[in-house]
Amino acid sequence: MSENNDFVECHGCGEKVSLDEAIQVERGGRILYVCESCYEYDLDEPIALFTLFMPDGGRVKGIVGCYRYEVYEDFEAGARPNRGAYSLAEDLAEFLLDNLEWIPTDPWRGYYDIKSSNENDKWVKVDSDCILAYSKDSEELKKHADNLIETLLSMRVAVAQVITRTSNLFSSGWDLYAYKPHMDQLKNLLIKYKVAESRLKYRNSERFILTALTGKDPDQADECDRLFVRIAKRILSKPKEEVKRLTHDDLIEMINEEMRSINQ
Ligand SMILES: [Zn+2]
Repeated sequence: MSENNDFVECHGCGEKVSLDEAIQVERGGRILYVCESCYEYDLDEPIALFTLFMPDGGRVKGIVGCYRYEVYEDFEAGARPNRGAYSLAEDLAEFLLDNLEWIPTDPWRGYYDIKSSNENDKWVKVDSDCILAYSKDSEELKKHADNLIETLLSMRVAVAQVITRTSNLFSSGWDLYAYKPHMDQLKNLLIKYKVAESRLKYRNSERFILTALTGKDPDQADECDRLFVRIAKRILSKPKEEVKRLTHDDLIEMINEEMRSINQ
């Protein structure tokens, strides 16, 4: 009975579980085996949360883990979602389950990315950004998001806002997806234009970098923060290999140069 091949390794925790008790999950065309507790607690720390906005005013929220998802009515919406809205939300959740991928930046840190969509996907990425919690930048991102959602809905295109987890408590991924069957070439072009227009109005890369690196809004930043950002930008613009070779003296040199250029 307990021969080796009666057991499988849980995809979540790596524990051995009997084949009878393991839960089979299909993901990206592959069958994964998951133990009961990994499956049960999967949604306790979700990978992604989304809100699907329908042109008729209905809204469905979703919560996506590694192996499963749940969708439910957004009661704050003006209208109740119809059955079509739920089926779109389920389609989106399946799409996310198949395409969410952990990107490690080092052994302890990283973020979830949504892989680029292929021809057969029903969801197309409209825009992508990062939420820096409790910042002025995130307030501006919200205005940008609201603006784009309203634009897409006015074109009768269902749109979903997806928030993804990172290892940093203070930042999350932000992506906007449009439902492809509602799109055509003209809408596609118009939306591209609207995204560019809205980014110019609400997004500011200087502000974003300052807040991302220092955790401060621009009006709280002091000289030292600004100097730090200038140096970080110089380092980040270099190829990875060159960054690895940077010495302590190189850094001092860079700091001196930046201080000179500030004081000029
Ligand atoms: Zn497990």
